[in-house]
Amino acid sequence: MGSFDKKVVIIGAGFAGLQAVRVLGKKQGLAVTVVSPGASVFKPGLPELIFGKYPQATVAVDSARIVRGCGASFVAGEVAAVDTARRGLVLKGGTELEYDYLLVAAGSVPAFTLPGAGVFLDAADAQAVRRLVLEKGKPGQTLELLVVGGGYSGIELVTAVVRLCRKIGYMQGRFRLVERAPELLPTCSSRILRMTLRDLKRAGVELMLKSVFEVKKGGCYLNGDRVAPDILVVTAGFRAAAAEFLPQFADARSGRLQSDACLKVADRIFAAGDSVLFVQEGKPLRQSVNYAYYGGMTAARNILQEIEGRPLRAFRPKDPGFLIPNYATGKAYGKSGPLYFGGRFGMLLHSLMGLVRAFCWRQRMRILSGIPGWRQR
Ligand SMILES: Cc1cc2nc3c(=O)[nH]c(=O)nc-3n(C[C@H](O)[C@H](O)[C@H](O)COP(=O)(O)OP(=O)(O)OC[C@H]3O[C@@H](n4cnc5c(N)ncnc54)[C@H](O)[C@@H]3O)c2cc1C
Repeated sequence: MGSFDKKVVIIGAGFAGLQAVRVLGKKQGLAVTVVSPGASVFKPGLPELIFGKYPQATVAVDSARIVRGCGASFVAGEVAAVDTARRGLVLKGGTELEYDYLLVAAGSVPAFTLPGAGVFLDAADAQAVRRLVLEKGKPGQTLELLVVGGGYSGIELVTAVVRLCRKIGYMQGRFRLVERAPELLPTCSSRILRMTLRDLKRAGVELMLKSVFEVKKGGCYLNGDRVAPDILVVTAGFRAAAAEFLPQFADARSGRLQSDACLKVADRIFAAGDSVLFVQEGKPLRQSVNYAYYGGMTAARNILQEIEGRPLRAFRPKDPGFLIPNYATGKAYGKSGPLYFGGRFGMLLHSLMGLVRAFCWRQRMRILSGIPGWRQR
């Protein structure tokens, strides 16, 4: 590699951002800075935080330590604006940074919130749900949980709460999963969907399809009837955080930045993970750890290619498949290529994937102490 002196700023220290810093951090002649507000949160571990399989330290790890270990600088803060003409960033609080190359890996934020409702994206959100269950789950009372949004994270959240209730010996719960669409997970194969629905029923989850939840006139309404859940969480819909500071490149609906095949968004700006709207075979790539991991690597390598005056390489994501865990039954169902996985073996695979994609060895060791993950505790 030739000698150059370029400043690269990576926004976000999640799956994509940390992979990118591993590629760029120790390259000679590059000054790499990662900006992120706090800990790196291992989102697939949030349900386990609710039922106490993992403590917070397993799920939320010290980003600054990992980033510095990769030879880069860490700035704790949140990007508020990017001036692409001047190649500068402004953080909330006013700190300014300059860049020659920018890699956006800022993940997702909730697409909308409701008054009095929680969200499920961070360790603090998972801890808040856990605290509420422990406070309100008293003998003689019925705990009502209402989860709005029947996607992957809605299923994970509701089944994690059922498991916590069982663990503390509190069985009088009403657990409702509300979905506006006529079916759950429309892109999922019918075989997996059938098994997922059967397991939700076994877990005692009431699935309410074609249902509308609203907050109006100071009250909550489900299909027009007034409801008063003890715990209300919205998991319906995510939006890319990048839409806040780079709105000119964001897709109107998803907020994700539109990129070319090499993850390039604009002059000297690349994006990866949930931040990017990458279209493959006519469909946007789903938001997943695996795509973020390889996207972060590809975007970082393309920054190096561009600095060295070499052609950029296309991002060629391979779908590793998916698993839908039900923490109440300890089973997960999913598919990889032509192969179907299910039951406790599926849950073991889900735990192993977490181990493979952990942010660092320290976190891996902590996750290991939680396997076998299918065992009811
Ligand atoms: C509950 C839950 C469970 C999930 N389970 C799975 C699963 O089992 N398997 C799977 O494949 N996917 C799962 N996902 C999806 C997966 O976690 C995401 O697709 C993945 O984290 C995306 O990686 P990322 O690097 O783009 O973003 P993230 O990992 O979210 O990282 C984004 C980073 O950017 C930072 N950031 C945000 N805004 C700013 C800003 N303005 N300035 C600076 N920094 C900022 C954030 O603090 C964070 O550090 C789950 C998601 C949730 C919510």
